[in-house]
Formats: sequence, structure tokens, C-alpha cells
Amino acid sequence: MDIIKYKIGCRNCLKSSNIPHLTTIREEDLNIYKKSEFDLMLTIENWRSEAGHLCEFCGSSNLEFYDISVNDYQLYNFENLVAMCKILHNRMLQINIDKKDNDLSLTFAGCDHIEENYLKKSLAEIINFIKDRPDNDFTAHPIGHLFICLTVGYNFSSHQIDIKFERYICHGLSKDDIINTFKPYLEQFGISW
Ligand SMILES: [Zn+2]
Repeated sequence: MDIIKYKIGCRNCLKSSNIPHLTTIREEDLNIYKKSEFDLMLTIENWRSEAGHLCEFCGSSNLEFYDISVNDYQLYNFENLVAMCKILHNRMLQINIDKKDNDLSLTFAGCDHIEENYLKKSLAEIINFIKDRPDNDFTAHPIGHLFICLTVGYNFSSHQIDIKFERYICHGLSKDDIINTFKPYLEQFGISW
């Protein structure tokens, strides 16, 4: 039996409960520790839409899930990711968009060095991902935050660049906010929206 613990934030009222939610999985998944927080986030999204849970403050169903742990093992752990990147010769890329009083700022973080082809592939992947996410994710407010963490590496068996989403947090931003913020980089790399 695995115990999944996570926090819930509301994209409608931007409030979040400090008390973690618990769900037990009866069938043990032997690969669960290999999953990223992002993988489990998608799983929880599926459960929640079936379970019909709502924000405790405003009653909205437009929720996001973060700080996810399995049996108290935190799936998103910066130090662990840095260590894994070193072992596997991967790179880590973090994208941060902050919105305050409708002003947007973008910062990149992660590895000190990231190859240009890795960065280009990562940005293209992020844009596709944003396009495919439900419109609900992009409920705009005067304040907001987008955080995406990826690990990127060369796959020697498929001869392709592999990208793994580690964490995704997004609230308060419209799709236009995100695209306009990314625009100079998309133009630089010839990525179309
Ligand atoms: Zn709410």
C-alpha cells in the first residue's frame, strides 16, 4: 500500500490549503519512485476529476496539485535532481515566470550550462505542452506564477534528446501572458506558436 500526499492550490481564487491531502493506493506500483512529481500530478488530476473534489474556499474544481510525496518521499527534490543529472550527464532547466500587478518577468535557472539544442528542444516541448493543457490552467489574475522544471539528456539508444517534465505549477497567467514572455526566445530559435 502506498500513501500519496499532496497539497492543493486553486486557480480560481489562488488560495491553497496548508493541510496536505492523503490518498492510499492499494495496488503497489513498483516503479512509483522512478516517477516525477509531474507524472504523479497527472495521475492525481485524473483521480480528482473522477472524485469531483472542489476548492474548500470558493468551490471551484479548477485545482492544481503540488508538493507530492509517496510514503513521505518527496518526488520533486532539487538536490536529488542535481545529483541524478550529474550521474546521467543530463541537464536541468527551470523556467520561472512571475506576474505581479500584471507585470511579467521570466527567469531561467537550473544547470550552469545547457547546450543550445537542448534549450531549443525544451522550449519547443514546453510550448506544445502549454498548447495542449486545458484552458482552465490559464485563468488570468493580476498575480501569478509559472514554474516548469525539466531534465534533458541524450538517449543513446534512440539517438534523440529525451525530455522529462519534473514539475509543473501554473496559476494566474493567461496563455498570451506566457507566449508574450517567451516570444524573444521563440523568435531566436525559430519556434512557432
Ligand atoms: Zn478556490
